[in-house]
Amino acid sequence: MTTARPPEAADPRRRVPRTDAVLAEPELRAAAGRLGRDRVKRAVTAAQQRARDGLIDPAGVAADALAALPAAATTIRPVLNASGVLLHTNLGRAPLSDAAVTALSAVAGTCDVELDLATGRRGRRGTGALDALRTAVPGADAAWVANNGAAALALVCAALASGGREIVISRGQLVEIGDGFRIPELIESTGARLRPVGTTNRTHLRDYAEAIGPDTAFLLVVHPSNFVVSGFTADVGVAELAGLGPPVVADIGSGLLTPHPRLPDEPDASSTLTAGADLVTASGDKLLGGPQAGLLLGGGQRGAELVERVRRFPLARAVRVDKLTLAALEASVTGPPTPVRAALDADPADLRARASTLAASLAADGVDASAVDTVAGVGGGGGPGVELPSAAVSLPARYADALRAGDPAVLGRVADGRCLLDLRALPARDDDVLAGAVRAVRPGV
Ligand SMILES: *Cc1c(COP(=O)(O)O)cnc(C)c1O
Repeated sequence: MTTARPPEAADPRRRVPRTDAVLAEPELRAAAGRLGRDRVKRAVTAAQQRARDGLIDPAGVAADALAALPAAATTIRPVLNASGVLLHTNLGRAPLSDAAVTALSAVAGTCDVELDLATGRRGRRGTGALDALRTAVPGADAAWVANNGAAALALVCAALASGGREIVISRGQLVEIGDGFRIPELIESTGARLRPVGTTNRTHLRDYAEAIGPDTAFLLVVHPSNFVVSGFTADVGVAELAGLGPPVVADIGSGLLTPHPRLPDEPDASSTLTAGADLVTASGDKLLGGPQAGLLLGGGQRGAELVERVRRFPLARAVRVDKLTLAALEASVTGPPTPVRAALDADPADLRARASTLAASLAADGVDASAVDTVAGVGGGGGPGVELPSAAVSLPARYADALRAGDPAVLGRVADGRCLLDLRALPARDDDVLAGAVRAVRPGV
């Protein structure tokens, strides 16, 4: 009798725990709080089926269900950026700072985004973020924020030039900025008319001057943020255009607020306004390192009036940002250096030391890993042609696919038959996670 096994132990199907019992386990209850009960229940049902099929031990149903569930209730998955591209549009561009993440969750509930708590009346929306921008950008006398850079530019064109007024722009700046998205098409979709001047490689001040007439709404300067034109070229700076009379609007793209020593050719908002631009538009999630947003900055009295006109234009309501963006933007502008800034400023010697440490520890585990010097880039519509000295862990090329499919997913790049995990865009605190992801790749893969 003591040696006879109870019949239910012999048949694993009878030992499969009941759904209610599994769902009552603390970890699964916590998962239901994160992901919703239905989703967790489906994972439990699937795990029970695997136990019935003899694929897992019935005692492991809860653990199996948990392992199949994601960490958060979104299908968007975090990816470690080991691509060596600081601003990767496919990876959501700028990673937010801790300060921005804290600000996001602080306002996630109800908040005073548009309420004056002193009077109990409606308040002006997002003043903290707008004040932060004006403070951070010498020369900015007014600010507004739209949903993204393209929205900011479209709104300016619609508000100042719809009804067939003309926007004068150099032919060298009729650019495509990514995924088939073309600035001239965006502008014309607002009902404004383009008045291209000059040629692809050379545009002179007289070209602008000759095009200005009663229908001119403004002169537009677009920074060709993803390519460089070299050779026999000429273009006209904002300072010269400012002397011609009509307002000057500059789409600088990258959202650099003040000059950066590593990016001498990248226009920044402050210098552009100081040079005489009335309005500057830029993205919040490029070099500024904040959330997706479109900055609109006005310089001088005319610039401030233009911002006001744009802000009051009906379409502005359709492209305004929410409290989350305002909070994260304010924190990115006023808080500690953003991850993008840290990556830009990283010392190559530190990157090399990190790569050596990682490669040595992986090699000690039998991984074919070595540290190599690399060149990283800004990407995402900023600093075209800028080479940032960097360092990477070099692995056999087959690791690239396996790491991308892993958890956490890792995006490296393949060059010369090796998978390179470039460390410039990766915060140092993620090094251990990166090593773990490499170790988790099965040797045969
Ligand atoms: C990136 C960019 C845009 C578009 O900005 P989004 O924030 O991506 O909408 C517009 N103009 C220039 C010059 C850019 O670099």
